[in-house]
Amino acid sequence: MQQDFLIIGGGVVGMAVAYGLLRAGCRVTVLDGSDDSLRASRGNAGLTWVQGKGAGMPAYAELSFEASLAWPEFVAELEERTGLDLEYEHRGGVDLCFNQEEAEARQREYSAIQSTSPYLARQFRWQYLDRTSLASYLPGLGEGVHGGTWSPHDGHCNPLYLLRALFSANLGLGLDYRPGCEVHLLTPLMNGFRAATTHGTYEAERLILAAGLGSAALAPMLGLSGAVRPVRGQVLVTERLQKIAQLPTPQIRQTASGAYLIGDIQEEVGFDRGVTLPIMQQLADRAVRIFPFLAHARLVRSWGALRVMTPDGHPLYEASRQYPGAYGLSSHSGISLAAFHAGRLAESILQDSLSHEYAKFSGARFSRSALNP
Ligand SMILES: Cc1cc2nc3c(=O)[nH]c(=O)nc-3n(C[C@H](O)[C@H](O)[C@H](O)COP(=O)(O)OP(=O)(O)OC[C@H]3O[C@@H](n4cnc5c(N)ncnc54)[C@H](O)[C@@H]3O)c2cc1C
Repeated sequence: MQQDFLIIGGGVVGMAVAYGLLRAGCRVTVLDGSDDSLRASRGNAGLTWVQGKGAGMPAYAELSFEASLAWPEFVAELEERTGLDLEYEHRGGVDLCFNQEEAEARQREYSAIQSTSPYLARQFRWQYLDRTSLASYLPGLGEGVHGGTWSPHDGHCNPLYLLRALFSANLGLGLDYRPGCEVHLLTPLMNGFRAATTHGTYEAERLILAAGLGSAALAPMLGLSGAVRPVRGQVLVTERLQKIAQLPTPQIRQTASGAYLIGDIQEEVGFDRGVTLPIMQQLADRAVRIFPFLAHARLVRSWGALRVMTPDGHPLYEASRQYPGAYGLSSHSGISLAAFHAGRLAESILQDSLSHEYAKFSGARFSRSALNP
């Protein structure tokens, strides 16, 4: 077979892993959907976030750390290869709380995360700061904010530039990219895999399913769980305003252009990726509560996008036992984990060690016996 890997899905997960494999000298084809596909990678908030990740799964919290440590080198290399500025900043972040109860729950949650592993007890730095103490990190913070958890590990980037840089770097490394090739059938062969698409048939020795929400339908053909469901987010964007030195928050962040990006809503509405007035109103009200100076800012854009959510919210990295050489990758933190996906995860796929290195992330945790021991 000519190609080493077929990757189904050209979102940030598929393209980050493709980057790692191409750098290692592999021959890779990415089969991708079209412009009307569901694409979380083009509708997200761009946070490279660590704090709070991995509650209930210490291995995921550790992975988030690993990714954040790998990000600076990952960005530097991508920027050098492509000449693009990913607008990456790694100066820490703040997750806001609006009342005492929320503040106490947050502190309990983070203490619990720290207590789950010696690594996290050592590495995970955070502090609850009241509104006054947050003023230097978030100038102009409103009185309706109680405080927030500050952590030095968080950052943000322009997620569209990240995706563009991955495309540009991958094409430069010889990627065979096939847009508009919707895969409808995957067939394991004696010595590889075949994908039947709307525009022809493709084969390779190994196959990686990274089709976001599209993975759910294709995964069973490879003996993978593909346990993902859509969870909608809505995002508002303001006009460009004067740049202020401030840290990002999941609720709102100022982008490099000066616009404020407002979000952090999770809705179970199936595959509807529209926007609704009540949620936009709620987001706008909260933004003004956080930064009262935004009361007169004009909103210039809004969109809805669907998260690729696993049942427990943690990443899904699976290697097929039934069809060795087939892998499934899904993550609800594809931006935060991009450096890890391009690095150690791609390596573990290359060495076919994913099933034991990342056993805790496999779909087995969602099987009936795992859920009802
Ligand atoms: C509102 C919102 C905010 C978010 N904020 C953040 C954040 O701040 N930080 C963070 O880390 N993460 C964030 N995320 C999550 C992040 O966007 C996702 O984890 C990431 O984009 C998932 O990438 P993906 O490649 O798995 O999926 P997608 O981007 O959905 O890509 C899947 C690709 O597969 C293709 N495809 C699907 N089916 C087929 C098929 N049958 N054949 C061929 N191709 C197919 C599609 O065309 C698509 O290109 C956010 C998500 C949302 C929705």
